[in-house]
Amino acid sequence: MKQIVFATHNANKLAEIQPLMPSGLEVVSLDQIGCVEAIAETATTLEGNAQIKADYIWKFFRYDCFADDTGLEVEALEGAPGVYSARFAGPENLADANMAKLLKLMEGKTSRKARFRTVIALILGGSSYLFEGVVQGKILEAPRGDGGFGYDPVFQPDGSELSFAEMTREEKNKISHRARAIEKLCAFLENISVD
Ligand code: IMP
Repeated sequence: MKQIVFATHNANKLAEIQPLMPSGLEVVSLDQIGCVEAIAETATTLEGNAQIKADYIWKFFRYDCFADDTGLEVEALEGAPGVYSARFAGPENLADANMAKLLKLMEGKTSRKARFRTVIALILGGSSYLFEGVVQGKILEAPRGDGGFGYDPVFQPDGSELSFAEMTREEKNKISHRARAIEKLCAFLENISVD
């Protein structure tokens, strides 16, 4: 079976994407190819960070591969936390601290518009491609719900009365930024029939 590397150490992300892949294409993780190091995400854009991770795998391992990067972009904060979403309140990536900082900065703002954006960089036979998935919504006044991760309790997607953290995983996966980017990647791979 043909393989493609997903530049992640996150087993949940891998499990989420495998069923959506064209048949005959197996997604393997960084650990499975012996890449144990953390690839430094030093770019100032989501596109840049996704590309850094994909380039690294192509350069040092010569595998077809893809990498993702996601950020929460808040209109009233000029797109922050954006590419710094994970480290917004400090290097430890603590969801509660990140949300608390966000809610504090949102005090008194008239617009609460925000969006999650996922970018996927694909390298296939040395050529690079980018895919984007976006979900528009708003930042709530206070966290709601116990599901999901990251900023889910403070984000309510347009067209829903529920925060991402109040949805089931299936409900969120139907409309999420990541699902939309993955859908585009998989449609592309399906069309060019990788073999
Ligand atoms: P990553 O690029 O997928 O590692 O995401 C970077 C950061 O964005 C995460 O550490 C979370 O803080 C946030 N994030 C990404 N995706 C989601 C999501 O689906 N819900 C809530 N927060 C997210």
